[in-house]
Amino acid sequence: MAMAHNGLAKLAEELGELSQVVGKMLAYGTGPHPDGTPSLLAKFEEEAADVLAAVAFVSETHNVNDDAIEQRAFMKLGKFRFWHAQPEPESRGTND
Ligand SMILES: [Mg+2]
Repeated sequence: MAMAHNGLAKLAEELGELSQVVGKMLAYGTGPHPDGTPSLLAKFEEEAADVLAAVAFVSETHNVNDDAIEQRAFMKLGKFRFWHAQPEPESRGTND
């Protein structure tokens, strides 16, 4: 069975699945979900792995520059860590 559109369809599917899990984590935390999923964190790990595999496959089929992706991801991770370490802005209240 060939991968539709050289893996792009599967990448879109896996991104959707990861997005769904992240939404559930925002609503219910990382533990069990009312739908019976025992651990949303474990489901996140599973879907994140699926996304990484799909990105790698699309990169192969589209002859993508892996070094450029790796460098950009490294830079972005540093930026996320910097932002996360910043103090929260003071609340301006609700009657501004
Ligand atoms: Mg999946």
